[in-house]
Amino acid sequence: MTRIYGSRKRILVTGGAGFVGSHLIDRLIDAGHEVLCVDNLFTGTKRNIDHLHNSPRFEFLRHDVTLPLYVEVDEIYNLACPASPVHYQHDPVQTTKTSVHGAINMLGLAKRLRCKILQASTSEVYGDPAIHPQTEEYWGHVNPIGPRSCYDEGKRCAETLFFDYHRQLNLEIKVARIFNTYGPRMHLADGRVVSNFIVQALSGNPITIYGDGSQTRSFCYVDDLVEGLIRLMETSSSVTGPINIGNPTEFTISELAQRILAMTGSSVPVVMMDLPQDDPRQRRPDITKARDVLGWEPKIDLKEGLRRTVEYFKEAM
Ligand code: NAD
Ligand code: UDP
Ligand code: UDP
Repeated sequence: MTRIYGSRKRILVTGGAGFVGSHLIDRLIDAGHEVLCVDNLFTGTKRNIDHLHNSPRFEFLRHDVTLPLYVEVDEIYNLACPASPVHYQHDPVQTTKTSVHGAINMLGLAKRLRCKILQASTSEVYGDPAIHPQTEEYWGHVNPIGPRSCYDEGKRCAETLFFDYHRQLNLEIKVARIFNTYGPRMHLADGRVVSNFIVQALSGNPITIYGDGSQTRSFCYVDDLVEGLIRLMETSSSVTGPINIGNPTEFTISELAQRILAMTGSSVPVVMMDLPQDDPRQRRPDITKARDVLGWEPKIDLKEGLRRTVEYFKEAM
C-alpha cells in the first residue's frame, strides 16, 4: 500500500492499551507516526492510553481481534493477548482463540494490505526448557495439555501461521520472542512476579514466593524491549526472526524478592506457596541474534529498572 504522507506511517498496534503496547505507542507517536490502537480492554486499561487522546495522530478502537478487522494501515504490531499466567488461565479457551484467530485475522489484514506484520511471541514457546540459555534454534519442551498450554501452544500456533503466510503468500513477517518484561503501567493486579512483589512490599503484605524460589527468570525493562521491537520492524524484508528479545542477566525468584525488599525498605515477611503446575525451572535468552541482526542489547539493568518501576507503583497505588 502506498503511503500518503511520506515517512509518516499509519501503524496498527493490537493490545495497545496493555503494558507493553502502551509504551510502544508512546514511542511511535513520538517518532511522528499515526497509531491505531485496537484493544478489547481485557487486561489493558484506558488509563494506559489516557495521555494520548490529545494527540490528533492517535486513535483508539475497542475491538476483539478474534473478530475480523477491516482498516487501512501501513504496518501491524500484533500484541493482543493476556500475558500474565493468572489472566491467560482465567479463560483459557479465549486465550487460544486470541492467539490463533487473532493471528489469522491480523495476517489476513496484512495480506489484503500487503503490509508487514510483527508478532509478539514469547519465551513460553520454549516451555520448561531443557537447554539453557535458550537459542532460537531450540524447539522447546511444552506440555500440550496443561494449564499453561492455552498460552504456550496458542503462541506456537501463531508462529506457525506467521511462517506459513510468509512461505505461502510471501507476506513480510517479523517474529519477536519476548522474555519476561517489567516496568511502569503493569496492572496492580497483573499477577506477574515483579508487580506482585512490589505491590506486596509497598502495601505491607507478605511477599509470595511460589515453590522454593530457586527457579530463575531474566528480567528486561520495558523501554529496552520496545527499542528491540521497533528495530526488528525496521529490518529488511529478509529478516523474519524468530529473534529473542530479553535481558540475559538471570536471577532466582528469591534474589528478586530480596532486591525488591531492599529497594523499597520494606520488612514484610516472605511466605512460600505451592509452585504452579508446569512452572518453568529456568529461563534466560541467548541474544546473540538480536545483537548481530538488530545491533540491540538491553541498556537498563535490574537495579535501575526496578527503581523506575517502584516509583511508578508508589504513585499508582
Ligand atoms: P498485557 O496483558 O498488559 O497486554 C495485552 C493487551 O492485549 C491488553 O491490553 C489486553 O486488553 C489486550 N487483549 C487481550 N486479548 C485481546 C483480544 N482478544 N482482542 C483485543 N485485545 C486483546 O500484557 P503485555 O505484557 O503488555 O503483553 C503484550 C504482548 O507481549 C502479549 O502478546 C504477550 O504475550 C507478549 N509478551 C509479553 C511478555 C512480558 O513479559 N510482558 C513476555 C512475552 C510475551
Ligand atoms: N481479515 C480481516 N481483515 C482483512 C482481511 C481479512 O480481518 O482486511 C480476516 C478474515 O476474516 C479472514 C482472515 O482474516 O477470515 C484470514 O484472511 P485470509 O485472506 O488469509 O483468508 P480467507 O479470507 O481466504 O479465508
Ligand atoms: N512467582 C512467584 N510469586 C508471585 C508470582 C510469580 O514466586 O507472586 C513466580 C512464578 O511461579 C514463576 C516466576 O515467579 O516461577 C515468574 O512468574 P511470572 O508469572 O511473572 O511469569 P512467567 O515467567 O512464569 O510467565
